[in-house]
Amino acid sequence: MASNMSTTEGDTKAPSQTSLNSQYVIQARNLVVEYDRTREKTKLVALYDFSLEVLRGEFVTIVGPSGCGKSTFLNVVMGLNKPTAGEVLVDGKLVSGPGKDRAMVFQDYGLMPWRTVIKNVEFGFEMRGELTKEAKDKVHHYIHLVGLGGFEHAYPRELSGGMCQRVGLARALVVEPRILLMDEPFAAVDLITRELMQDELAQIIVQTKQTVVFVTHSVDEAIILGDQVILLTGRPGRVKTKVRVNLPKPRSERGLRSSPEYLTMRDHIWNELSSEVSMTPQKGD
Ligand code: ADP
Ligand code: MG
Repeated sequence: MASNMSTTEGDTKAPSQTSLNSQYVIQARNLVVEYDRTREKTKLVALYDFSLEVLRGEFVTIVGPSGCGKSTFLNVVMGLNKPTAGEVLVDGKLVSGPGKDRAMVFQDYGLMPWRTVIKNVEFGFEMRGELTKEAKDKVHHYIHLVGLGGFEHAYPRELSGGMCQRVGLARALVVEPRILLMDEPFAAVDLITRELMQDELAQIIVQTKQTVVFVTHSVDEAIILGDQVILLTGRPGRVKTKVRVNLPKPRSERGLRSSPEYLTMRDHIWNELSSEVSMTPQKGD
């Protein structure tokens, strides 16, 4: 269950060289992540020379071919994966493990099926022995914020995919992390729910002013939500292109469909992405 927890205790330690008070909340510098392929007795390089900076309060979306290391990158920022080389700084400090400043929303929800909605959302506080009256008030607030009021005592099996995803979102938001890491959170929900949740997430983030790194395989979603879209190469993943999105907010796919600027951006990202997908070898996926 460890990798499915939205937050855990941990810390960041002093970096090798840093720029404190930096405008960047996240700085990934020349990351390399290798995995051992025990059966083949080889190594698989998931990320290579991966560098990316995220500004305070920025909503960054990441798109890239399947298997190019997107989840790997989020896990490194979360402190769940140690890079083989390079470093990630959060607020100028080297990441050496999970911390209260970061929370993750997982693609597969990562809920504990034996716990009710409220118990899933309370989990982070409970684990830290911080389930105070104030914490319980926050749990109540965030369950309502994601539209799950009335479902507090339901079990995950009684909920739709979209509702489970809302629980995952509430569980990450409730600890009020400065950084929200989201790994294809809406991939498994139907299109209508997806659009609704995109709208809701955008509204929530306007209020909370959190810094968000959001991985998606949808180019439309990347543009609708992102201040900046980061396009990765095929594996080993590196930043290929950065596209700044200056379209007015709030944005919706319906509203943007007729915007020439949106269509040009979409075409550009699609072309860049499709050239990477065709170049990505399938072996090792
Ligand atoms: P993405 O999220 O972009 O689809 P991942 O970061 O999940 O990609 O994975 C990148 C590559 O690393 C893939 O080829 C995947 O098979 C491999 N990989 C991911 N996690 C592990 C692991 N724990 N052990 C071995 N290989 C892994
Ligand atoms: Mg992934």
